Amino acid sequence: MSKSLLVIGTVAFDNLETPFGKEDMVVGGAATYASLAASYFRNNTKIVSVVGEDFPQSFLDTFRAKGIDIEGIQIKKGEKSFFWAGKYHMDMNTRDTLDTQLNVLATFDPVVPASYQNADYLLLGNLMPKLQKRVLEQMQHRPKLVVMDTMNFWMETAWDDLIDMLGRIDVLTINDEEARILSKEYSLVKAAKKIMAMGPKYLIIKKGENGALLFHKNEVFYAPALPLEEVFDPTGAGDSFAGGFIGYLAKTDNISFENMKRAIIYGSALASFTVEKFGTRRLLEISDAEVEERLQDFVDLVQFDIILEENNA
Ligand code: AMP
Repeated sequence: MSKSLLVIGTVAFDNLETPFGKEDMVVGGAATYASLAASYFRNNTKIVSVVGEDFPQSFLDTFRAKGIDIEGIQIKKGEKSFFWAGKYHMDMNTRDTLDTQLNVLATFDPVVPASYQNADYLLLGNLMPKLQKRVLEQMQHRPKLVVMDTMNFWMETAWDDLIDMLGRIDVLTINDEEARILSKEYSLVKAAKKIMAMGPKYLIIKKGENGALLFHKNEVFYAPALPLEEVFDPTGAGDSFAGGFIGYLAKTDNISFENMKRAIIYGSALASFTVEKFGTRRLLEISDAEVEERLQDFVDLVQFDIILEENNA
């Protein structure tokens, strides 16, 4: 039985530069990618975010067309939307942030509409940690699962608030570089232990084109990323992953470790579409059949048989 899902995060304009091209003022943002990925599951997905008057009405209509409830997106008259510019190197696992302009985000006070306050699943997408906390505090009851995503920018500018949030969530998703910064450990296994001791019961470490690791107590699960022929723009892969992950959990309403493994594969599959074109373009056009085919590709990629006794004979 599908449960309702609340996603918070940025809804933004991005200037993107990759080895394959450059596009300016592309609609992006953490909540944009995450909610679009989650909408694949036709969940009752809702967004809390903020945009300026410059944000196109046509994209707000796109959210609605995907069944996403946008009552919680504030539109600030006379102000500009959050803006981010990033440049990827030939190794598209690394990128430089060229510019971050908070604009509407600088004074954003998130308001969770009454109809959202009972959501069972909450994705605290990439945003100032203190705003993530404001949203959590407005929930009528604690959601069944709280997943949080963050990035190095907030580790540099809001360390204490971020550490405070770690004690309030169930699952943290970050990339390998951020896990090392947060834990001050090089080994990802040691890093995972330290980070889980800070609060989250589950930790997902994203490794870009090298897949993702899910940690829980002493268990680890590894999900590969699909080797893709076309990778144009990795922007939003992490958010699409997080949206796909929690979207699947909300749809199945099962938060066991076994089901989280499936959710990670769904998240990886949805992220694999995002990177195939600039911005949200590919994510907006995927069909159910394409997603199913891609899930099968994941199964084929890692399935093999080994008869262990043979080696000992
Ligand atoms: P990802 O590639 O999944 O890490 O997410 C890229 C998206 O995050 C872009 O569309 C940006 O608009 C957005 N973004 C970049 N920096 C920040 C930030 N400091 N806080 C929130 N969102 C951000």
